[in-house]
Amino acid sequence: MRRTRTVLAGVMTFLLCITAPVLEARVDIKPGFNTFSPQQDIELGQQAAQQVEKQFPMVNDPQINGYVSRLGKRLAGYAPGYKFPYQFDVVNQKQINAFAIPGGHIYVHTGTIAAAANEAQLAGVLSHEIAHIALRHSTNQASKAMLAQAPIQILGGVLGGSGGLAGQLAQLGIAFGANSVFLKFSRTAERQADELGAQIMYDAGYDPRAMAQFFEIIQKQGGSGTLEFLSDHPNPGNRIQNVNQLVPKLGPGRNFTNNSPDFEQVKRRVGGLPPAPARGPQAQGGGQVQQPPAPSRNMRGINANFFSIAFPDNWQAAGQDSGAVTIVPPGGVVQGARNVPEIAYGAVASIFEPQETRRRLTLQDATNQLLAQLQQSNPHLHLVSNGSRRLRLDGQDALSVMAMGQSAVDGEAELNWIVTTFRPEGLWYVAFIAPEHDWNQYERVFERMLQSVRFPR
Ligand SMILES: [Zn+2]
Repeated sequence: MRRTRTVLAGVMTFLLCITAPVLEARVDIKPGFNTFSPQQDIELGQQAAQQVEKQFPMVNDPQINGYVSRLGKRLAGYAPGYKFPYQFDVVNQKQINAFAIPGGHIYVHTGTIAAAANEAQLAGVLSHEIAHIALRHSTNQASKAMLAQAPIQILGGVLGGSGGLAGQLAQLGIAFGANSVFLKFSRTAERQADELGAQIMYDAGYDPRAMAQFFEIIQKQGGSGTLEFLSDHPNPGNRIQNVNQLVPKLGPGRNFTNNSPDFEQVKRRVGGLPPAPARGPQAQGGGQVQQPPAPSRNMRGINANFFSIAFPDNWQAAGQDSGAVTIVPPGGVVQGARNVPEIAYGAVASIFEPQETRRRLTLQDATNQLLAQLQQSNPHLHLVSNGSRRLRLDGQDALSVMAMGQSAVDGEAELNWIVTTFRPEGLWYVAFIAPEHDWNQYERVFERMLQSVRFPR
């Protein structure tokens, strides 16, 4: 499979090379590997848009919204590829930021309009975001993460199950909304968005250099207000130089539009908007990873293949059909250091098949084998000193161990509470996961979940 792909890649490169003279004059970047369909981009985006609009104070001013929407749609008319239903909204926040979610929704902060010197610079930001959507960068990243070895794997509990990729992602709380790890782009994606964005600007009659100028303003201005933009859109380096080199290739020189009276009016109007009440991610410290909402007191249950379990009704479960169940609160899955989604808060339950030995395996032996395997995928995992403890789980002998590992949240200490018991299928285990500093907020809910476990008789 891998070999076929390499060969294919070689053929593609060759084809690109021989066709290069024709395409040389224009930006020719195609969306990368993607396991989602464009229609799924739209569906995921619609769900994310609902979250974003709950989370952020949206501007509801016909003049401001109308202007940004008209400008954005005009630019989007020059976007290549799939015709996404592009839509532009304004967030009432002073920070300079803009973000695009899959399928066509683009959000621009009022701070961006206030910081832009002219319409061309604002058009630059919008074109750059349009390019991210047209090139499907978010779902490309998600696809690569899913493809990576052992996707959504923590502690060896491999996610299986049904519902399709999009359904699984949604169930796992891998969102594409604001602050989502899938909206933070790589430098390669940034360079592509700059180049395609430049082409969109050129085609719409704006000087593409205005986009690079605006990014330079952001970089120079620095400070906490711009950090968010730069963390979502990292500087690929030599931005201005790259765009400058590209401009002559886009077509003959033309008279570019720089500004419009509408822009000036809207900019003044934005300056006069009352500030939004503090809420949303900024109010919570603007952190990279948001702590999940408190677990609901109401529990709901699911039947997996080999057991049933209850969990807070604001959490979600995936993989019931496979016997490897993942249960997480919204935001409980984060992009870990290994660049694949990892569970920072939640639980995984699965079956482990211990290796046969000559003597009869004790529960402790089998659990030790499980821990050894878990350590292979999570080398920082180690037992907390006071060892294991016996307990009863649905009338069965069970073993409870506490291990410490490294959280996907900033590599902080993470606790993994693992409970094992023998079942006809092998060693059944559940691992409850939370960062150490939040452990006491989750301990009780984990206890309740454990007490709810039932095995078929
Ligand atoms: Zn970007």
